[in-house]
Amino acid sequence: MQIVRFSGPEGIAYGTAESDGIRVAQGSPLVEWEQDTDTVVGYDEVDLLSPVLPSKVVAVGKNYVAHAEEFGSSVPETPILFLKPATSVVGSGAPVVHPPDTADLQHEGELAVVIGKLARHVSAEDASRFILGYTVGNDVTARDLQRSDGQWARAKGFDTFCPLGPSINTEFDPLEPMRLTASVDGEVKQEATTADLVFGVAELVAFASRVMTLLPGDVILTGTPAGVSTVRPGQLMEVEIEGIGTLANPVIAGRQST
Ligand code: MG
Repeated sequence: MQIVRFSGPEGIAYGTAESDGIRVAQGSPLVEWEQDTDTVVGYDEVDLLSPVLPSKVVAVGKNYVAHAEEFGSSVPETPILFLKPATSVVGSGAPVVHPPDTADLQHEGELAVVIGKLARHVSAEDASRFILGYTVGNDVTARDLQRSDGQWARAKGFDTFCPLGPSINTEFDPLEPMRLTASVDGEVKQEATTADLVFGVAELVAFASRVMTLLPGDVILTGTPAGVSTVRPGQLMEVEIEGIGTLANPVIAGRQST
């Protein structure tokens, strides 16, 4: 099942993506919902939104060997966690705003885990019971600010720096080697499979839930493969994961500070 959240003729709702359109659900898959309705709206009648509004986005650094190496680093012994604010989340199609504060805005295509149930001190063996499904993420980063600040809250925390979507696949198997690509204006920059993750999804859910309670709708960004590159206003970032879909976001110029 592919779950989408959208703004349509009747307002904002959840639904399931079907070949002839979106079957509109009542309620939310994070609480309680009724999927089996008769209402179907066309894809051209809606704007897709981020499939969830997380209370927090827990992101993982250096979780692909080749990406750690491109920064002259190695993979850490335990996952490196950082947070992106809820206010950085946007959906597929929404613009990512290039702030004037950075001269090096970069894409990071990532597999995103959507938590479905409150998770605290969960074991890796039990982790799948707490996962609603998987979507596509782009951990947009101001690389120069990440280096100069020494910590990452500003570099990764601007509004619009966390595109998520287009849908949540509830049957996606993260242990299968599914192709992940990130491209800029159609040119592939990052390419890997989800099986290349150093710390796997179950291990990441267990690790993060020992630190902070994960709430329904929270998202874990699992890290990015090698090939991150600089984007400029006017360019289009696309992250695609086989079996989930394509997350597409244009880059636009932000306002100059006064
Ligand atoms: Mg990242």
